[in-house]
Amino acid sequence: MSGTALGPGGHWRNWVGNQSFVARHMAKPASEDEIAAAVAAATREGLGVRAAGSGHSFTPVVATSGLLLSLQQHAGIIAVDVERKQVTVKAGTRIGDVGRALNQHGLSLINQGDIDTQALAGALSTGTHGTGATLGNMASQVVGMRLVQPDGSVLTLDHGDERLLAARVSLGLLGVVSAYTLQVMDAYNLKETVWRDDFAACLERHDELAATNRHFAFFWCPVPESRHLYCLADTSSVSNTKRDFDVCEMKVMNITTDAPYTRADGFEKVAYSSDIYPIEYVPNFHELEYAVPVAHGKQALCEVRDLMLTKHRNCIYPVEYRFTAGDGGWISPFFEQDSVTISVSGGPGIDYWNYLRDVDAILRQYGSRPHWGKLHFTNVDDMPKLFRRYEDFRALRRALDPAGHFLNDHFRPLFA
Ligand SMILES: Cc1cc2nc3c(=O)[nH]c(=O)nc-3n(C[C@H](O)[C@H](O)[C@H](O)COP(=O)(O)OP(=O)(O)OC[C@H]3O[C@@H](n4cnc5c(N)ncnc54)[C@H](O)[C@@H]3O)c2cc1C
Repeated sequence: MSGTALGPGGHWRNWVGNQSFVARHMAKPASEDEIAAAVAAATREGLGVRAAGSGHSFTPVVATSGLLLSLQQHAGIIAVDVERKQVTVKAGTRIGDVGRALNQHGLSLINQGDIDTQALAGALSTGTHGTGATLGNMASQVVGMRLVQPDGSVLTLDHGDERLLAARVSLGLLGVVSAYTLQVMDAYNLKETVWRDDFAACLERHDELAATNRHFAFFWCPVPESRHLYCLADTSSVSNTKRDFDVCEMKVMNITTDAPYTRADGFEKVAYSSDIYPIEYVPNFHELEYAVPVAHGKQALCEVRDLMLTKHRNCIYPVEYRFTAGDGGWISPFFEQDSVTISVSGGPGIDYWNYLRDVDAILRQYGSRPHWGKLHFTNVDDMPKLFRRYEDFRALRRALDPAGHFLNDHFRPLFA
């Protein structure tokens, strides 16, 4: 980027290839000043502005016909405060790079999700979460942030400013995030244990496993092929059940003082926290996910499973089931609500929409909220019922961006 001239545009597509668009201009600013200059130049021309992370959302959350910013050159650690256990990070930094840098300072992220290749701003903006009944989503670790506004000015939000709660999960609607300050913790190793159990036994132990482990999650696989679709390990050698179908691939992770090791059969591992969280996925699925109030989790899962065993027998991607504690983010999927997340997937090229609509019909009965980065059917009528501070969020968005430069066609109906 040189000066405030906007460069040429081009075609963009997401990781899995179900979203693409052509932007009139594209820019890769390498500093906050360059972000500000690009945003101001675009809004002066009346253009929309969106930022892309690493394109791991399944929904049109990045799309724009105006200016598309990639912050991949605006990456790295700005400052580490070892005493307060806080780190300030440029918004384009990949989550995995944050973890690796923290390890050098004897620190760790409090929790992470299933992959670590997202840009920090991309992950936090949609409410990306890991699993753990007492652990909030990743954005709940934000104690400060810097947001570039439509005129190129920078809004600084610190702990104690109520607008920080709105901005933690804000989908790029309140400005382009240039930096975050995160609360982190002393470095820890995690021991991960995976095994297989049958569905009934898994549900019976649901409350106990969630309460007694820092992290507990499972995949329910309706048929043997399911686990290959998500690259899950074959846990039959550490199995409580000999059945090859309708099983749960179970996982717990706990902080340990043990030194790193991998048990010979591979189903127990110890490593630095950020080396344990990520698992491998290939881009062969389109995912829907909702946050379900924790009290309804088991019932909702049973209904989704029945649907897959009866009406949609060809839908064989695993169901992933995780736990996330409530937080204060105004449009966070976990707003003031301890939740489980239930996700299902369809295969690219397959007409899975009736299946996803049926899953939506089940989960919405329980007041479930969408993961903004995954497929969902949430509409404007749902919003005030799901998010008590929805109108406050809209009012703040309008105050910061009255002309709606940061809206796109996907978000205009929900947040204009
Ligand atoms: C294989 C795979 C595994 C996943 N695992 C998990 C998981 O374990 N847990 C979970 O919750 N989700 C998971 N997700 C979903 C994923 O974490 C989210 O969709 C996340 O938002 C993607 O991050 P990204 O960097 O790719 O951002 P993108 O998808 O590129 O963008 C997401 C949003 O962030 C906005 N944005 C990006 N940068 C900025 C910025 N600087 N300022 C303002 N707005 C910005 C974008 O405009 C967009 O609205 C997974 C997705 C995939 C494909």
